[in-house]
Amino acid sequence: MQSSITFYGGIHEIGGNKFLVQDKGTRIFLDFGMQITKANQYFGDFVNPRALNGMGDLFEFDLLPRLKGLYRQDYALHTGLEDSREPAFDAMVLTHAHMDHAAYLHYIRPDIPVFCSEATKLVMQGLQETGNKEEYVVFKKNFQLKKDVRGRGEEFQQDRAIKVIEKPFKIDSIEVEPLAVDHSVPGVTGLIIHTSKSSIAYTADLRFHGRRAKDTERFVQKCSESDIDIMLCEGTRVSETSSRTEKDVESDVKEIVSKTKGLVVCAYPARDLDRLLSFYLAAKDTDRDLVIDLKQAYMLKLFQTSDVWKKVFPRPDDKRLKIFIPRKSWGLVGRQGWPSRLVEQDYDRWEREFLDYRNAVNYQDVGRHQKDLILYCSDYQLQQLIDVRPMEGSGYIRSLTEPFNEEMEFKEERVKRWLVHFGLLAREEGWNHSHVSGHGSGDQIRKVIEESDARSLVPIHTEHEEYHRKWHDDVKLVDLNETVTLD
Ligand SMILES: [Zn+2]
Repeated sequence: MQSSITFYGGIHEIGGNKFLVQDKGTRIFLDFGMQITKANQYFGDFVNPRALNGMGDLFEFDLLPRLKGLYRQDYALHTGLEDSREPAFDAMVLTHAHMDHAAYLHYIRPDIPVFCSEATKLVMQGLQETGNKEEYVVFKKNFQLKKDVRGRGEEFQQDRAIKVIEKPFKIDSIEVEPLAVDHSVPGVTGLIIHTSKSSIAYTADLRFHGRRAKDTERFVQKCSESDIDIMLCEGTRVSETSSRTEKDVESDVKEIVSKTKGLVVCAYPARDLDRLLSFYLAAKDTDRDLVIDLKQAYMLKLFQTSDVWKKVFPRPDDKRLKIFIPRKSWGLVGRQGWPSRLVEQDYDRWEREFLDYRNAVNYQDVGRHQKDLILYCSDYQLQQLIDVRPMEGSGYIRSLTEPFNEEMEFKEERVKRWLVHFGLLAREEGWNHSHVSGHGSGDQIRKVIEESDARSLVPIHTEHEEYHRKWHDDVKLVDLNETVTLD
């Protein structure tokens, strides 16, 4: 029987990886992400795919492959996609919890097992429990209510079959070896896969300049020992050069903070816990506390449940951290004389426990201790500056990717306007920018390609396949939805 890989995404584009590996009748998907750029051409802001049309709105623009026995049956019913009782796929193996690799798990049947690292599971759990609409870890059946004990309609939900993997495992004839790599979210795994016909390596997203460069080294080393026939190699930043590291970001932050007299306001990628760590360590070194938001506190709480990760990231009640409790609809936080029960009602269930933490702070606390704090404030939390009122001599650090389209540029201009208004930025100066990407630059990807020494190469997650061709003499350029036979 045939052995093959079909590329349903991540081809001639950055992200949206969905690779189907088939061997002797076993079918497993490697990642099932959203094609963000393409999806944004049709959806966004107030135009969203409608659940009532199942996968139909996404099929309309070829944003999901039409396959039977793959999708959740509550949606399939509404899509006119006749579906079987049994799943036609054996597993979903996820490399990490970024949207362009995992978001469309939402559409998958809950009885298809999902294999991922412990950290990937924790990030997905955090995303779902703090209000992301993607059903990563818990599947909620649509269009159907079951009666609860009091006879009221109750949502039907079930946990997805998520299996945490750290060691090699087998799915019928396919053997999967998960290997940690360094990227901008915890728990990313590169994969080496042995089918009955050949060996495949899949880089996931990787780099050598983060806190976990040794993991990437080990992955490449393992590839070179594994006699790889075909390597699926990312190339997000192949056309770029940069030698800056996460450590450089940490020392930049330290330097800027030590020169700032008032409050330091900062923005960084919310789920990049290694970046949070850079700000945390810089805070420690400058004798300040880092004020994080509720979602980050929740993520840190989840990571404390892991024996491995609890040693890596601080606890949410760490003495160098403060948790910012924002004013919500009633705006009672920080106002005297209101019963705590009423204040609590303003907050989602997952947020409430943090109200009682000793290190919880509100805008008044931050306002009073500006010189001692670094305040995380994303582009979506700028209103908090109205409450906090940064003092003279305050500053701002931006630790995010630069805008790469007009929409992002427009949004950045708006952020700058807020910062100028609050004296965090003088109109004539650029802002303090310190950031490194989750993806290796050209020289790093070249090193991965050369040292892995795979027989052939498929460029994925890139718009610049020409670099892979420069660095390897057997590059297969495949098209979207194309199947490559392995022999
Ligand atoms: Zn990623």
